[in-house]
Amino acid sequence: MAKQEGDLVRLSLDEVHAIASKGLIRHGASVEQARTVADTITSAERDGCKSHGLFRLPGYIGSLKSGKITGDAVPVLSELAPAVVKVDAANGFASLPLEMGTAALAEKAREQGIAALAITNSYHFAALWPETERLAEQGLVAFAFVTAKSYVAPAGGIKPLYGTNPMAFAWPREGKPPIVFDQASSASARGEIMIHERDGKPIPDDWAIDSEGNPTNDPTAALAGAQLPFGGYKGGSIALMVELLAGAMIGDVFSFEATANDVRDGGPPKRGEFMIAIDPTRCVSGGNGVAQLAHAETLFDEILSQEGTRLPSDRRYAAREKTPKEGITVPRSLYDECEMLSSAGV
Ligand code: NDP
Repeated sequence: MAKQEGDLVRLSLDEVHAIASKGLIRHGASVEQARTVADTITSAERDGCKSHGLFRLPGYIGSLKSGKITGDAVPVLSELAPAVVKVDAANGFASLPLEMGTAALAEKAREQGIAALAITNSYHFAALWPETERLAEQGLVAFAFVTAKSYVAPAGGIKPLYGTNPMAFAWPREGKPPIVFDQASSASARGEIMIHERDGKPIPDDWAIDSEGNPTNDPTAALAGAQLPFGGYKGGSIALMVELLAGAMIGDVFSFEATANDVRDGGPPKRGEFMIAIDPTRCVSGGNGVAQLAHAETLFDEILSQEGTRLPSDRRYAAREKTPKEGITVPRSLYDECEMLSSAGV
């Protein structure tokens, strides 16, 4: 049972899944769509990624209520080339197409050595580590790229153009969970600025500019202005690459087009995702992967031999150790909102 702790409510992971799934179904999602989105939300809470956990449920449901997202969409998988598969999400959430698409992508990567997946007509509202980690757990090296809405000014500009355009990379490890980095090409994810605004906290320097182009620490001014790419023009070029891969190349939209098409119901815009999977055993002659993975471990050991370092994804895996036993907490206001959405009808 949900337990109140001051301004917070503690929930088990099963309760997170149940409240998300119930809310989505009540507002028109099919059981499969609701299950896969609830899986996405629950894994974010499990790994301490608050900006993609229950915090997103009102947005997912807002887009069902507005009619923007087809709650009972049936994604369609097709083969575009011997090593390229596509899932047309049929105007639905991205979680179910990703479940189908990554299974087909893994098969193709093992057959061909390298393969690609294009997901189109989908609404992605989450992190990218789940889909890349899923592939690396099967021994594959994986990349994922997603556009967003226009939130980020190109280096030197002051008007939003690029999305926050995350990319993720996952590397398999023998007997250990994969190494995954998953990062926006903006200095911060937009959800982080929204959480700072909700909590009445200033944002760090260099995350954003206001609508006049002045640096700001005010989250509200930042949301009205433009986010900045990480590392100046270098992050800007990564954002540009993501636009090209997940937009033009797979026949889907750029972030500025997704913005123009969106109805602003608090949910995600419709856009594409592009993924690559590589079978490392096919990248050396006669390899079985053992030597390559063992070699990689020497690099990780060197990194960790320096004080102050950690590997990307270690924070998530540390959270994953605790949350199945301890549960997670959400602000009471968010819990009340999710509870109301999962109890009320359409
Ligand atoms: P962060 O800056 O919080 O983290 C980026 C990556 O760096 C993570 O893999 C993190 O690992 C790793 N990392 C952080 N600190 C260290 C460190 N000291 N040493 C080594 N590695 C480190 O992420 P962002 O704010 O850029 O993005 C947050 C999320 O938002 C991502 O999951 C992204 O996919 C998502 N997003 C989704 C969008 C969408 O439209 N669907 C749009 C934009 C972003 P760890 O997790 O272990 O901390």
